[in-house]
Amino acid sequence: MSNRSSIDGIIERSRAYNCVQCAKCSSVCPLSGVDESFSPRLIAEKILLGFDEILYEKGLWTCLTCGACDDKCPSDVDYRGFIRELRGKSRQREEVWKCAHGGVLQSLMRMMSDSALKQDRVGWITGDMKVADKGEILFFVGCLPYFDIIFEDFGVKSTDIAGSAVKIFNHLGVTPVVMQDERCCGHDLLWSGDTENFMRLAKNNLKQIKKTGAVKVVTSCPECYRTLKLDYAEYFGEQDFEVLHFSEYLSDSINRGELVFNEACRLNGRVTYQDPCRLGRHLGVYEQPRDVLGSIPGACLGELELNRDRAVCCGSSCWINCGQSSKEIQKRKLEEAKSIADLLVTACPKCQIHLKCAMGDLEGMDMDVVDLTVLAARALGYLV
Ligand code: SF4
Ligand code: SF4
Repeated sequence: MSNRSSIDGIIERSRAYNCVQCAKCSSVCPLSGVDESFSPRLIAEKILLGFDEILYEKGLWTCLTCGACDDKCPSDVDYRGFIRELRGKSRQREEVWKCAHGGVLQSLMRMMSDSALKQDRVGWITGDMKVADKGEILFFVGCLPYFDIIFEDFGVKSTDIAGSAVKIFNHLGVTPVVMQDERCCGHDLLWSGDTENFMRLAKNNLKQIKKTGAVKVVTSCPECYRTLKLDYAEYFGEQDFEVLHFSEYLSDSINRGELVFNEACRLNGRVTYQDPCRLGRHLGVYEQPRDVLGSIPGACLGELELNRDRAVCCGSSCWINCGQSSKEIQKRKLEEAKSIADLLVTACPKCQIHLKCAMGDLEGMDMDVVDLTVLAARALGYLV
């Protein structure tokens, strides 16, 4: 298939041919808000007019695929899908997309796509946590054990999120399955246009999940959540397990009266919540994390001005891009959060890493950023 006819296919699937050049996308785009040279409208126009060189320009890779534009587009263009597929075309000339952190995370994901790879990824499980190899409820950990090693210097321990999740499961009388040989879900490779390695990772995971007999897969990472729930279904057909984000699992447990936070662990502080793009705009989970926060004794929730479907991304996506624009988005968010709250709560391990990293660049920004799962475990009295 020629380059142009495959691009025509992308234009058709994403409905980009409907684009009326209204620029509503550019007006809400968080990147355009900090970098005038970035214009989603212009990218669409150039592709529609056949200026395919745009495929090899930076803009295609700086887009956060956050979906803020999709929600405002009057022509129903699937802009994030449009970008995702165009990246697959762009990858043919690798020199234009140098990923953040020297591409180490993408390399790690590609290594994980080799089914013969032997990993030790359960070292974070301590003697006080009960996990199983088979069972109905599976906790999908994601790449948290690797983040601990790569981002140690930021003072973030991502496996605390996994440990907290297991402790909460155990508190509820559930022994979750944790897979010894889980692989990266493939989210970042899929959104970087590397469909081939995404599919290899997904096949490994689906094979492993099937062996456990799980009927419910719960994850604390919104990107794993989106990938397992939507993308595995798109590429491999509907699966016979349900996928939940941990905030949904917590919220359901609270609503059933099974999970009651400990009054003795009162928070007594103002909190605000960062809606992760994949959890919020991509899958519409806005209220469950807020329900959990509302149930924690002493947590007084104040909202960022742009929240829920209008929320601004944490500034970096898929470990592809991290530059001045990312830092500016993060700086604005942290400054606003600090002006209304003592604690910034996220429900995404990557949001936490990106915001903690930005904090290191901002003088006097000593705000605590904590994951919702960790906060919930603390509110039950666990020392995390
Ligand atoms: S909002 Fe939609 S129709 Fe308007 S310029 Fe952007 S992609 Fe085109
Ligand atoms: S997906 Fe987000 S970053 Fe990309 S063009 Fe749309 S609003 Fe901008």
